[in-house]
Amino acid sequence: MNDLIEQWVRPGVLALSAYHVANPRGLIKLDAMENPYTWPESLKEEWVALLRGTDVNRYPDPEGTELKQGLRQAFNVPEGAGLLLGNGSDEIIQMLALTLGGPGRVMLSVDPGFVMYRMIATFTGLEYVGVPLRQADFSLDMDELRQAIDRYSPALLFLAYPNNPSGNLFAADEVREIIRAAPGLVVVDEAYAPFTDESFLSEVLEHPNLLVMRTLSKMGLAGLRLGYVAGDPAWIGELDKTRMPYNINVLTQVSAGLALRHASVFVQQTRAIRVEREAMFQRLLVMDGVQPLPSQANFILCRTADGRALELFQGLKAAGVLIKNLHGAHPMLRNCLRVTVGRPEENAAFLNTLERLLQGMD
Ligand SMILES: *Cc1c(COP(=O)(O)O)cnc(C)c1O
Repeated sequence: MNDLIEQWVRPGVLALSAYHVANPRGLIKLDAMENPYTWPESLKEEWVALLRGTDVNRYPDPEGTELKQGLRQAFNVPEGAGLLLGNGSDEIIQMLALTLGGPGRVMLSVDPGFVMYRMIATFTGLEYVGVPLRQADFSLDMDELRQAIDRYSPALLFLAYPNNPSGNLFAADEVREIIRAAPGLVVVDEAYAPFTDESFLSEVLEHPNLLVMRTLSKMGLAGLRLGYVAGDPAWIGELDKTRMPYNINVLTQVSAGLALRHASVFVQQTRAIRVEREAMFQRLLVMDGVQPLPSQANFILCRTADGRALELFQGLKAAGVLIKNLHGAHPMLRNCLRVTVGRPEENAAFLNTLERLLQGMD
């Protein structure tokens, strides 16, 4: 390695591997929790017309005022809550870490959890503490969490609700207990809100240390990169100081605004995904050699027989279906595969191939 790199790149960054994204060319893409449906033709027409009237020679509205109004209406953000936009919710995690980080400060979450928490903690110089979930059902281990909160006094605590990569919802009362016990800020990450009826958004102003973060990615706008975080306007004001000016570009502002005016399209799509999720779960449940975990998200985590995850992943890929192999990502994800719920015919291709592979017919 170039000596200068070793000398100057921060050790935490040197030790990381870059976030890996598989090349999906030609494959049925069930690896990244995307909505598989595109926009109806009539909506595309309206979109093109809107873009034709949009100029890119000027900077975008720095506050995204109109877009925020659209988000408030579409998602029932409590009146009086402040709102901050991010270039994806990943950027919001980064703003949170920049705002609350610093030498000797801790970001706490649960493991296995969303990998960007740990990565962003590392980039920004926060110590990351991951408290293991319970192996049996990926629920919160409250004793361990209470102890870790006492011991580390985290400045920032993330809980994904539902959790990624397990797909389950934690018990709401336990989440509330953590919010009360935490000395610092708690962020409930509701990236999968479109796929569950549970949410903390309506109670975000009831706790002085709670923010609720969401993204439009999983709902169907992953390509636009738009996330938001809601809560006490005083918290939001501090976070806003670390935001890059004009972080939400013009095309995203107008396109997401249009999508929100047609929110029913996405409600229909995500409902279809929820129905498919249940059908997929039922089929996985009766297959010999995989054990699916009940999910409130748009993906299903499956445990496979010991030593078979990679082979099944590769067999699926060879048959044209790309999912995510999580074996090796964390000890609790041993033999685990994660599949995103796609369109019915995509899910059928996945299920039929998996069944064949499990029966040793391939
Ligand atoms: C996908 C995901 C995000 C990030 O979404 P963006 O595309 O950056 O908005 C955040 N949290 C969790 C738990 C996720 O799964």
